[in-house]
Amino acid sequence: SIMPATLSAISNSAKNGILFKGGVHVENLSYIKAIALDKTGTLTNGKPIVTDAFFKSEHRKTAVLSTIKAIESESTHPLARAITAFCNDYLDNTCKTDIQKMTTISGNGVTAYVDEERWEIGNAALVGETDAIHFHDGIAAKLAEQGKTIVFAKNDSGITALFALKDTIRKEAKDAIKDLKKSGIHPVMLTGDNQITASTIAKEAGIDHFIAECLPEEKVNHVKRLRQHYQNVAMVGDGINDAPALASANVGIAMGEGTDVALETADVVLMKNDLPKIMNAIRLSNRMNTIVK
Ligand code: ADP
Ligand code: MG
Repeated sequence: SIMPATLSAISNSAKNGILFKGGVHVENLSYIKAIALDKTGTLTNGKPIVTDAFFKSEHRKTAVLSTIKAIESESTHPLARAITAFCNDYLDNTCKTDIQKMTTISGNGVTAYVDEERWEIGNAALVGETDAIHFHDGIAAKLAEQGKTIVFAKNDSGITALFALKDTIRKEAKDAIKDLKKSGIHPVMLTGDNQITASTIAKEAGIDHFIAECLPEEKVNHVKRLRQHYQNVAMVGDGINDAPALASANVGIAMGEGTDVALETADVVLMKNDLPKIMNAIRLSNRMNTIVK
């Protein structure tokens, strides 16, 4: 049975944009010692834009962009949307390219065939680290240091293009992290993005501990590992990819504008994507626990 005090706390917090899906989560949140946060869409706004593009051959640029557009317009990934928009701005006529066997490689990118030729669009792990490092004299590392996500496009003749995409960190992220740390809660950022980009974004957010190149299924393992070390761990995320990790935390917290799967799996929903609400929710759960006991 649920205590009247808990019930009123749940209804009051709902008015303040924090939706607890049950009294037990109010209690669990008060024990949290560490909090894992997804990067894209959680710490950042999740709306990347292409800031830089490099091509192997200027002369083939239009053809390459047409193909990339055809492939990425089939993907719902936020990076794919941004790349499609960039291609649209550059290409003035929409010539139709037929693509076959489009495949999503979770955490790495996409592959497809165009006129019997295999294309790969995604991170360095997908297109091959050696080619990626040498493209345009190591330009990828320099762009990543600026906190930009790097996407390569490759066909049978090697890497044809590189895109750098910048996603802005949520304006309230830094203060939210500072408050968590002040309360003795250890923040950890989990991301599928590369080491250098992850390190820059983590630094911008004030997070000292981050795990990069983390495949969706690895997020679960990292949450489990954190639980061994900190006992009570919360996970905050927004994507379909985050749902298993949300379920494996003591308290799963979803961003309100996240995907349906994340919202369904979570124990707590932040209705306005509002990161500082996490600390409000923790304070409330601490107060509740002292009242109830
Ligand atoms: P995150 O955890 O940051 O949301 P993901 O796990 O979804 O990232 O993806 C990891 C990496 O895989 C991206 O940084 C990007 O390099 C690459 N990637 C994934 N999907 C795509 C796509 N549709 N187009 C281009 N790159 C992609
Ligand atoms: Mg995300």
